[in-house]
Amino acid sequence: MVSVLSPSKKNISLCADLIRSGKLVVFPTETVYGLGANAFLPDSVEKIFVAKRRPKKNPTIVHVSSWKMLSLVIGRSVSKKEKRFLSRFWPGPLTVLFLRSPRIPDIVTAGLPTVAVRWPSNRIARQLISMANVPVAAPSANPSSKPSPTLSRHVKKMKGVSAILDGGPSVFGIESTVLDLENQVVLRPGPVGISELKPWLPDVRFHASLVSDARPKKVASPGMRYKHYSPACKITVVTGFGKKLASFFNGLPRSVPVICSSNVAKNVSGRVVFSFSSASDLGKRLFAFFHALDDAKIKRAVVQGVPERGIGFSVMNRLKKAASKRLTVS
Ligand code: AMP
Ligand code: MG
Repeated sequence: MVSVLSPSKKNISLCADLIRSGKLVVFPTETVYGLGANAFLPDSVEKIFVAKRRPKKNPTIVHVSSWKMLSLVIGRSVSKKEKRFLSRFWPGPLTVLFLRSPRIPDIVTAGLPTVAVRWPSNRIARQLISMANVPVAAPSANPSSKPSPTLSRHVKKMKGVSAILDGGPSVFGIESTVLDLENQVVLRPGPVGISELKPWLPDVRFHASLVSDARPKKVASPGMRYKHYSPACKITVVTGFGKKLASFFNGLPRSVPVICSSNVAKNVSGRVVFSFSSASDLGKRLFAFFHALDDAKIKRAVVQGVPERGIGFSVMNRLKKAASKRLTVS
């Protein structure tokens, strides 16, 4: 099994050398753990797709740590206007689409003319990318369709990885917001919400597939085609309030764990209960709950839904994709 390294300067520098030389390194970001490779080396990026069993049509995000690196990825200099907008959100959990430089291999973008770029805020991620001195292609470090890793131990079983840098629990716990800047469309909801983007992009909106259950004819972001975030444990999302919700949970077989708000949890007993204090707290810990359920070989669990506002919208996006059933208790 690959060793988990503490994020000392020496270890980060060792991992940076591994990335430069074409190896795969798992590293922490503020969203989830990433599986990184030198974005300029197609054979290295290929290893990511093999390790994750990721469909080749699903492009990866390229991580940078300077404006200079961004200009290498997009093959031109970054305008003052772009810098003003990006500086508001970068370093941070926003991924933005740009037309790509010919230096970025086809495998990174799945042949698309655009490349998705992020400048993460996590200190370890930033140091790693700076020391590697190359842009780092990195999807989440989980097998395709499984829940993303938010702790280093969630990735210990990944094959083909040369090192894992441990940065503790992820701060946000859900993947970055993906923005098509040119068309002002959010392709994947994440920690950066529409209301934060609005002052800069007055027409910004969610992609149609995110706000309706109907299947859109045209998929804007290839990742939307695929099933995501699903633990082996069957998840039911339950929406409702207070004592009614608690008595619904109490009526379930005792073997069914409940993930619910701390308010509701006070009235739930006789079973394993994981509680969360807010929608963002659920977002931060949701994937860790899923990993814990699978590690304990739990077959079925219920999760209380949160209001689909602000970060709650992004958390519910992940939860609905993971769930096999949805119920409302009223
Ligand atoms: P992951 O790397 O697993 O966090 O997923 C990256 C997400 O960004 C996926 O949903 C991809 O489909 C999406 N993505 C990456 N590059 C592009 C692109 N050029 N155009 C549209 N979506 C992209
Ligand atoms: Mg992913």
